[in-house]
Amino acid sequence: MAEIRIDGVHKRYPNGAHAVRGVDVAIEEGEFVVLLGPSGCGKSTLLRMVAGLEEVTEGEIAIADRVVNDVSPADRDIAMVFQNYALYPHMSVYKNMAYGLMNRGFPKEEIREKVRKAAELLQLEEYLERRPHQLSGGQRQRVAMGRAIVREPKAFLFDEPLSNLDAKLRVHMRVEIKQLQRRLGVTSLYVTHDQVEAMTLADRLIVMNGGVAEQIGPPLAVYGRPASTFVATFIGSPAMTLMQGRVESGAVTLDGGEGRAAPGAIDLPDGAVTVGVRPEDLRVADDGWIFGDVELAEHLGADQVLHVALKGQDQRLTARFAGACDVPSRGPIRLSAPAEALHLFDPQTGRRLGS
Ligand code: ADP
Repeated sequence: MAEIRIDGVHKRYPNGAHAVRGVDVAIEEGEFVVLLGPSGCGKSTLLRMVAGLEEVTEGEIAIADRVVNDVSPADRDIAMVFQNYALYPHMSVYKNMAYGLMNRGFPKEEIREKVRKAAELLQLEEYLERRPHQLSGGQRQRVAMGRAIVREPKAFLFDEPLSNLDAKLRVHMRVEIKQLQRRLGVTSLYVTHDQVEAMTLADRLIVMNGGVAEQIGPPLAVYGRPASTFVATFIGSPAMTLMQGRVESGAVTLDGGEGRAAPGAIDLPDGAVTVGVRPEDLRVADDGWIFGDVELAEHLGADQVLHVALKGQDQRLTARFAGACDVPSRGPIRLSAPAEALHLFDPQTGRRLGS
């Protein structure tokens, strides 16, 4: 039984913007699903439809087997955590967490118990009497989560909750959110444009592009077998390099190149192909089939990143090596990658080819 079911959902705004174009996904009970994609791809719109803050133009959304298209946000049994925390500044931490329950007429004793449990879980016990402005960004974030937890919702919805925090705190909170979600086991849908956040938090990713769910799957499966050039270049940093070439008799030749890659390993008909290689899958080889000139070598300590101008290609290639590796920092270079590390795409549609 899926906790959140999204069936053929579309959103057309009154101004004609077709923000979500037929998304289908079933989020299982306890699962952490992340909606990932660039700005404007429709992530927030989809989340807001689940929350009930936007109407569904077409399709169906169900929470715990109940269709909620016409159910008000307050009656959907979900909790939303926003990036600006939306805490009440004049109320104590305790009151902030208790407020929703008080409004619903819960008995005082029960409220105290629920808030105490949430505060313990979030390590906020010492701060219950403070006001939000007396807390750090991370603590405020935890109060916002606490307010969601006390209601024991069927699902958490997160809308870029970490985007206002500085880089260090973001990493810290990311770990906290993940641990907390594991402990609570609450079904979660989380929106972000940050691929590292998405990769580390998600049980499954939904990668969105132009209102469409381009790929849905566990982070490593998406990383390892991107379904399109969009997903391939959006996930992974530095990004995968895409080169133009041809399949000929079971091997790949790059346009303007000389060598043949993966002879006998490519089970595709002859024709034009887009060849993708991740930076970490490249190695320097005298008999390499990728020809170029190193334009810049960035030494980052643990790794080094080479930026290579390719022969016969308009794109630059990025290669990553361990910091201790002895690789040229200027001039001509030949590189190679094993057959199983090649990602082949249709140059017209951008869809992945082959198995
Ligand atoms: P994301 O969260 O991925 O940045 P959004 O869901 O906010 O994307 O927006 C998706 C598309 O819908 C964008 O083209 C945006 O301009 C449009 N859009 C968002 N909200 C509205 C609105 N209230 N009215 C009209 N168009 C909107």
